Amino acid sequence: MKKHAKMLFPVLCGILVAVSLISVMKISDIREYGKLINYVGIVRGASQRAVKLEMNGQPADELIEYIDSILNELITGEGQFGLVAASSEEYEEELRVLKEQWDTVKGDIAGVRLGNPDGALLDSSEKLFEIANQTVFSIEEFSTESANRITKLIVLAAAFCGIMTAGASYYSIKRLLELKHSNKELEEIAGRDELTGALNIERFYSEANRIMNRKKEEKYAVLYIDFENFRYVNDVFGYEYGDLLLRNYAHFLMDRLEEDEVLGRMMADHFVILRHYGKKEEVLNAQKGIDKEFLDSVAAASNHHLMTIACGICCREELPGLADATVMVNSANFAQKIVKNTPEVKYAFYDEKIHQKLIEETNIRSRMQKGLDDEEFIVYFQPKVGVQSGEIEGAEALVRWNVPGHGLLSPGLFIPVLEKNLFIGKVDRYVFEKVCRWLRKRLDSGARVMPISVNVSKIQFYNSDFINVYADIKNRYNIPDGLIELELTESVIFEHEEYLMEMVTQLHRNGFLCSLDDFGSGYSSLGLLKDLAIDVLKMDGMFFRISVNVEREHTIVKSVINMIRELNICTVAEGVEREDQVEFLRTTGCDLIQGFVYYKPMPIEDFEKLLDAKNEDCTEAERRSPNDLRFSRNFANGAGVGPLVVGQGI
Ligand code: C2E
Ligand code: MG
Ligand code: MG
Repeated sequence: MKKHAKMLFPVLCGILVAVSLISVMKISDIREYGKLINYVGIVRGASQRAVKLEMNGQPADELIEYIDSILNELITGEGQFGLVAASSEEYEEELRVLKEQWDTVKGDIAGVRLGNPDGALLDSSEKLFEIANQTVFSIEEFSTESANRITKLIVLAAAFCGIMTAGASYYSIKRLLELKHSNKELEEIAGRDELTGALNIERFYSEANRIMNRKKEEKYAVLYIDFENFRYVNDVFGYEYGDLLLRNYAHFLMDRLEEDEVLGRMMADHFVILRHYGKKEEVLNAQKGIDKEFLDSVAAASNHHLMTIACGICCREELPGLADATVMVNSANFAQKIVKNTPEVKYAFYDEKIHQKLIEETNIRSRMQKGLDDEEFIVYFQPKVGVQSGEIEGAEALVRWNVPGHGLLSPGLFIPVLEKNLFIGKVDRYVFEKVCRWLRKRLDSGARVMPISVNVSKIQFYNSDFINVYADIKNRYNIPDGLIELELTESVIFEHEEYLMEMVTQLHRNGFLCSLDDFGSGYSSLGLLKDLAIDVLKMDGMFFRISVNVEREHTIVKSVINMIRELNICTVAEGVEREDQVEFLRTTGCDLIQGFVYYKPMPIEDFEKLLDAKNEDCTEAERRSPNDLRFSRNFANGAGVGPLVVGQGI
């Protein structure tokens, strides 16, 4: 069909050209026939006049000659009048008869001139008149027939071309529609996320913008949805189950989309929806209802309330001008982050307050490099106190930002921002170097030293060069092994377990202690600790504040600490604020306490004073080797480095 369709066009063109040529020829023939009719008419009229003149005794030689020349040209097609030769036998025959009759008339004229009576001439001229008349009618008839034939031909050709064109058009339109349809299908597939069927993010942006631009007066909101503890679902129930949940949730949402609403998947467990609404609360309540229905159905199926959802909503009316989808998604995401992992509120509208936070973020970002260059970042130390000894046995370095005109910013305010754009790595290294410099100074002056822990952001940890950079700095300051502890956050562990194990081995090889920070604040797996050669486990304050059934909880905490001790890992209880908590921890075998109950984070100078005051009562041996051999495990076994004696080589 395709091949035939391709040939159809030239065939149609050929037919049209041929029909046009024939028509032009035929039409000019008809014009010629008109001329013939005229000239036969002239023969008819002129012969009557010549006869009349002859009968009146006036010779009409000129007229006779004129008639002769016309008749000759009518028969031969050659002569001065531009007449065509006869193209039909019937017409030819009639011309021949006409000529014969004219010759008879001419004979009768000659007889009259010789004095014969004119009766014969009258008869022959009347006959000539009839024959000429008949010839005119014949040509007329012939011309009419010719015209009819052309009309028929043109009509037929037009009908043929019309039918063919209609067929071709139908076929082309059909093909076009088919193509459009399959293009659309391809576009559909290409623009969708494979797992869930939701739009991919580029497509979401373009669809959302198209919809909002078409209906500018309509109210639109973008919802940014994130599952709070999806990692837990994946870890505990497996990725297949996780995928199934995401797919079901996406379908659940898609089934509830109205016209001109779209669902997109940003990444992993993050979804975005464009919705239209009348009142803002409608969007919120509808989404809450949908999410509850979905989470309840999951809980019913699995007997667990596995997940919670955090959702930020950005209504276009809250933004200046007619914001586009990208700005709305970012704003909704920002609102989502504000409620993510907060205990109760799970849904938030993007509003002025959040907008303010965004501005603060922007300010932080624009100032951070200058802040680092101008040494505005300051290191505080928070002492760690031995549970049994009650003495300071270590400290954690915690960063603060002294912004001129604003005072000290706590890390909770700026670290999340710095983490977003990887700048945190620079700050971490800055803090680490300050700690090295401080230790070097103390070591050089023979003052008392103890292990200092520094935080390593999760983002830093994924930088493959990180260990070399840290080891170089440590070596540059010639810091003995075991004096610096690197705190890794729990989330790192559960994301890339094997990678982490390798990193810990490497860190040990380079003389660092490794601790796992904030254990118990998220999803904690004791099972994992058996494979992970960490030295210290820092139990989050949350761990000790669970108070539904205090005795029961105490039993659990005791058992956990016991198990950790069995693994030869030192435990640090963080965020301890009350004496009764200390009392309880004393009964558990916990090693160190880091909390306001003893000390808040303090400037390094204050920490030094504290140390030095205590130091006055210490023996030289205690000063140089602060109690701690418990960390030697990993250097001896894990990484093949000899037992740590802090102070060695000082
Ligand atoms: P973190 O590493 O878990 O540090 C312990 C946090 O708990 C510190 O907060 C400390 O002041 C606080 N804290 C200690 N005892 C108590 C207590 O009894 N009650 C209460 N309510 N809080 C207590 P801070 O200094 O605000 O630091 C917060 C977080 O910021 C740190 O948590 C750490 O994750 C991060 N951070 C601090 N400095 C740095 C740094 O240099 N680099 C990186 N990457 N993160 C840092
Ligand atoms: Mg820490
Ligand atoms: Mg912590």
